Amino acid sequence: TQPTPTYRRVMLKISGEALMGDQGFGLHPPTVERIAKEVKKCHDLGVEICMVIGGGNIFRGLQGSAQGMERTTADYMGMLATVMNALGMQSALEAQGVHSRVITAIRMDEVAEPYIRRRAVRHLEKKRVCIFAAGTGNPYFTTDTAATLRANEMNCEAIFKGTKVDGVYDKDPVKFDDAVRYEDITYDDVLQKHLGVMDASAIALARDNDLPIIVFSLDEPGGFETILAGDGTYTIVH
Ligand code: UDP
Repeated sequence: TQPTPTYRRVMLKISGEALMGDQGFGLHPPTVERIAKEVKKCHDLGVEICMVIGGGNIFRGLQGSAQGMERTTADYMGMLATVMNALGMQSALEAQGVHSRVITAIRMDEVAEPYIRRRAVRHLEKKRVCIFAAGTGNPYFTTDTAATLRANEMNCEAIFKGTKVDGVYDKDPVKFDDAVRYEDITYDDVLQKHLGVMDASAIALARDNDLPIIVFSLDEPGGFETILAGDGTYTIVH
């Protein structure tokens, strides 16, 4: 039996690194396909899905500026990287028969459509997956903030942050065996304890709008579907 989703409209945020598989850089097509299939399962349940994908598998603004590049230029390169990832995901979704739109915060009309809120809402109502690309369109921000911003604008019920681990821990569970996972935690605790869930501006934006953040493992097969039904292991930040 299929799990019954408890959500109607959600934001799925994944990092660019989630798409690179074991390659260490760029897009790994089988990994992108695997994630597209996870999204399809949830889409098939009737959940309206927004997505934001980072760009860290291709370019990070901070790295560029550390190497002497002007920060804003480097950030624009990072934003462009997210567009590449979004197009890769769109293509993988299309191969699964899922209709989607790539919507960019920076105009590039030949490549994807510009962000127009009402238009994006309409796409969701028509059950098209909306992949929001180019971050917020502004330097000095991250795609975590972009995901939170768009989730608010699209009236998503929650942000689902797919990571390599199944929630938020008190210390890095990869390095420490005795790391403890939180079942739930407040936005303020995440900020005070400097837990690396999302950057501080994203957490604050979620907090100020009562938008829950659900951290779960994207590596778990069927994980997204299970989490959407309220089962499985995850941490909720609220
Ligand atoms: N970026 C930006 N403004 C935004 C979103 C992203 O300038 O609103 C740039 C920034 O340089 C960032 C890069 O795009 O380093 C890639 O995004 P991010 O680091 O959030 O990707 P992730 O870590 O999720 O893969």
